[in-house]
Amino acid sequence: MPEKCKQRERILATGNADIPGLPVMAIRGHLCFRCFGPPQQTKNLLRCGGCRRAVYCSKECQKLDWTTVHKKQCKLLAEVNKKEEEHYQKSRSWEQYRSYLLPAVRSIRDASPEENTYFIVQAQPYCSSCHRTYIQLSAPSRKISLKPCSLCRLIFTCAECTPSHPDSVCSAYQSFTLVEAFRIQFFEDTGKASPATFTEEPRVSRKRLADAENTWYDYYAHISDKEMVKDVIAKDFTAISEAAREVSPVEEQEAQERMRMFLLLCTDTLTMPLTILAGLERLHLDAKPELNIHLLGATGRELMALSSFEEIMHLVPGLKSVHVTAIGPGSWTDAPEKLDKGDARYFPAQDMSCCTECTQQGRKRSVASWRGVYHDFVNSAVYDEKKERPDLIVAFNSGIVDGDDADTDWAPTIKVILDIGVPSLFTSYNEHELVNETSMWKKKGARSLVEPQENRWRGLVPSPEFLDREGDIWYQNWGWYVVQK
Ligand SMILES: [Zn+2]
Ligand SMILES: [Zn+2]
Ligand SMILES: [Zn+2]
Ligand SMILES: [Zn+2]
Ligand SMILES: [Zn+2]
Repeated sequence: MPEKCKQRERILATGNADIPGLPVMAIRGHLCFRCFGPPQQTKNLLRCGGCRRAVYCSKECQKLDWTTVHKKQCKLLAEVNKKEEEHYQKSRSWEQYRSYLLPAVRSIRDASPEENTYFIVQAQPYCSSCHRTYIQLSAPSRKISLKPCSLCRLIFTCAECTPSHPDSVCSAYQSFTLVEAFRIQFFEDTGKASPATFTEEPRVSRKRLADAENTWYDYYAHISDKEMVKDVIAKDFTAISEAAREVSPVEEQEAQERMRMFLLLCTDTLTMPLTILAGLERLHLDAKPELNIHLLGATGRELMALSSFEEIMHLVPGLKSVHVTAIGPGSWTDAPEKLDKGDARYFPAQDMSCCTECTQQGRKRSVASWRGVYHDFVNSAVYDEKKERPDLIVAFNSGIVDGDDADTDWAPTIKVILDIGVPSLFTSYNEHELVNETSMWKKKGARSLVEPQENRWRGLVPSPEFLDREGDIWYQNWGWYVVQK
């Protein structure tokens, strides 16, 4: 087994929860499903004969993956393959492909809670012209080859079609590939999947986010404490700067590029506290010494990022305490096994530790959790209008109109949000979600406190969309707005 794999297995063996998901580059046939490495020497990757989807760099990786993960996966995937054959069409539109794919992904998600399994189907390789999948094209009765684009390697064309995809999509996929490669390397180097960085010392003087002309560059260089980006990273964060390229030796440029990628990935977590702070500034709530925030519909990623909310205190010297209640069916509870489906449960406020400096200043952070939907929380005995009424309601990437989560019914929550009349900040993954949500709120009679717009504090990491619009790229908190009755 290659040394790279061994290192990864050692990290996995520690039981670390923060592990990266299966890379799209693996699902699309370029990297080993187990160690995320490329084929060894110039040999091709080995393909699993059962599902024809999983690929491996070596027999060792294949064996290890079979016993730990793939055995169960393989059966489910082989069943999907049978359905693909039943749905075979010589050519179909994206809409036709998508309307086949959505229920297929949902059914596999219901059968296996493991995220990677349905993602293998969701992100599967297909011809971007005729929308036949690799599984269909490579069936023994057809044996039609499927070739990746030589530049982005993630978009494919079959031997019977002509390659075509817009340059903008190709280059977005290329940057996505760089991000994936960096993430894999970062995990091997550090044992962590999600890079994080914050302002180490709380600021003593206030600098407003609204004044950061070059958003993330100015945040890192002037508002936070990452002076090393000055003159080294381009203002739009897409590359290291011209100046750095002219004067730095090659190895130094490589280190600078790694720093850029690291800080770029950190924006995916920092987008949460910074979008909230941008909202507080716009609503003139940033002078309040105490803040109470209701965080709606948070899932694993947002819950893990709760510790990053201390960043708000570090940027706002006058802020003494922040209380967050996380509310949603995915929020935590002390006894999940006691809950029936649909049962709600409150988990009272717990103090969260602050850094030494904040603790000495007597600043406080706390979090509470309501596992259940928001309208049940507001109508429950726990919710006391005087004590609990939040300053701000926040829902990140809620998919309140376009979400593919069919069981979530937002209608009663929307009503409650309007009834209690608190400013509510929403974000969306992309532009058309933003447009659809805006028209929904208008119909309900909400007014805009912040007009729907591209979020200056969105995450900078591009992610390809596989179920909605073909070639779309989404970003954490791409768009935002604030509404109130
Ligand atoms: Zn491998
Ligand atoms: Zn298999
Ligand atoms: Zn084709
Ligand atoms: Zn391409
Ligand atoms: Zn602190």
